[in-house]
Amino acid sequence: MWDYEADVVIIGYGGAGATAAIAASDARAKVLILEKNPQGGGNTKYSGGSIRTYLDLEKVVDFFVTVCEGTTERDVVESFVNESTQNPDWLTGLGAETVVSQETGTEGYPIRLPGAAFPHIRGAEGIGPRVHVKGAEKGGRNLWAVLSRNVEARKIPVMYSTSGTQLIIEKPEGVTGLIATSAEKEVKIRAKRGVVLSCGGFEYNPSMHLNYLGQNFFSLGHPGNTGEGILMAAELGADLWHMNAVAATFGYKFPEIDFAIRHRMPHASFVYVDQSGKRFMDETGLDGHAMWAPMSYIDMKTLQRTRIPSYVIFDEDTRVRGRVGWTDSGIVSEIYQWSHDNSAEVQKGWIKAAESIAGLAAQINIRPDYLQSTISQYHFYCTGRYDADFGRSPGTLVPIARPPFYAIAIWPSIINTQGGPKRNARAQVLDVRGRPIKRLYSAGELGSLWHRNYPGGGNVSEALAFGRIAGRNAAAESPMA
Ligand SMILES: Cc1cc2nc3c(=O)[nH]c(=O)nc-3n(C[C@H](O)[C@H](O)[C@H](O)COP(=O)(O)OP(=O)(O)OC[C@H]3O[C@@H](n4cnc5c(N)ncnc54)[C@H](O)[C@@H]3O)c2cc1C
Repeated sequence: MWDYEADVVIIGYGGAGATAAIAASDARAKVLILEKNPQGGGNTKYSGGSIRTYLDLEKVVDFFVTVCEGTTERDVVESFVNESTQNPDWLTGLGAETVVSQETGTEGYPIRLPGAAFPHIRGAEGIGPRVHVKGAEKGGRNLWAVLSRNVEARKIPVMYSTSGTQLIIEKPEGVTGLIATSAEKEVKIRAKRGVVLSCGGFEYNPSMHLNYLGQNFFSLGHPGNTGEGILMAAELGADLWHMNAVAATFGYKFPEIDFAIRHRMPHASFVYVDQSGKRFMDETGLDGHAMWAPMSYIDMKTLQRTRIPSYVIFDEDTRVRGRVGWTDSGIVSEIYQWSHDNSAEVQKGWIKAAESIAGLAAQINIRPDYLQSTISQYHFYCTGRYDADFGRSPGTLVPIARPPFYAIAIWPSIINTQGGPKRNARAQVLDVRGRPIKRLYSAGELGSLWHRNYPGGGNVSEALAFGRIAGRNAAAESPMA
């Protein structure tokens, strides 16, 4: 009847799956991990790896409840905060060293973004600095090295190239196992105590983008995340939440590379303009994870998305100050390193260059007089140190004055999605009536507690916190005979 058997079966070997496996194994359960790819790591490996710390737990709970706009129950937020405050110590216990992350970038980015996105919301002052795991590599790779080393040390088996496809539910026990595809064969796997769904979001499922997020996106992360956990849970009657929530920023997309490259600015002499050459936002005032929002505008008269793509316009001062493409994280880090002075990308034609603003406009199909007028207006605001259109901070009003001038198309690019099966404070997956589906748990960005107003640094924290909660609780289920 069954090809494989374990107490706790974990579907998806990224940060949440590895953490759940460690927690379940430490609770003396026999654990089996399934990973659809030939190697683990998921988005976690390609992330910046930054984790939240807190200065005041009560204030932080208030802050998160408010930014989630009532979509996440207070007890779920409390469970997350209480558990995630232990993340740094837990990692230290696994042999990691954590250090405070620099939020200003590595190349002197002068525009300091707040530690907590939405700093004006009540409770934001309870948020502490972000930390990450120190190591020889960049970002989430160091975190992944610690997690995967600990999975190996516990001798937890991982079935690679094995996709969970369908959960098996029996009455009255609940979820008793699953069907998976391994080496093109269907296998049945028994879970004597429980199943943890930790298979990430739907960053690479274009039809789910359209259906749930209302538009298409490029993606920065792991291509294995195609929303299968959502289908498996929905098939059992799970309630879905946060399906319209996404952490998405601006990225570049070039035909030579299959993935988006994250946009960043090393200096303040830049603006964003839409397809008619108009500015549309405070370029330096928004947390990166929320950048998709101003870009998703639709002209309801024509149904045109006049900001997809938009363009970043900058000058020689910015070009020489550092990389405008971030390739230290994201899947692109496997295959491309952006040049430090952007010269390689100018040469490739990825960055358009011209000696005049009008010449630049012609290269990106914007009417030269429109773009010229936008830049003149922006310079007027720089002189007066007051941006009457979008309230950009005076210290960042730096003229785009020194030729050559540059432009790159920018696209909404997903860091990660948040939607999936709804979970409770114990990481149990809930059905559409709010009842736990027996022996089914979830962790990580699949059905994340975060809503649209994502405050940054919360998804890795959540993968670790709910990974431990799910792993412990699944291990504590009574075993089926
Ligand atoms: C460029 C980038 C930077 C980021 N930086 C940060 C940051 O600094 N801080 C932060 O908090 N968040 C950050 N994030 C987001 C964060 O990395 C993720 O949300 C988090 O790591 C998700 O962890 P997870 O374990 O839930 O999913 P993942 O780590 O993505 O793991 C999911 C795994 O499940 C596997 N899988 C999928 N379907 C199946 C199936 N059917 N069967 C078996 N396996 C399956 C996938 O192949 C994958 O390996 C970043 C993301 C990106 C892309």
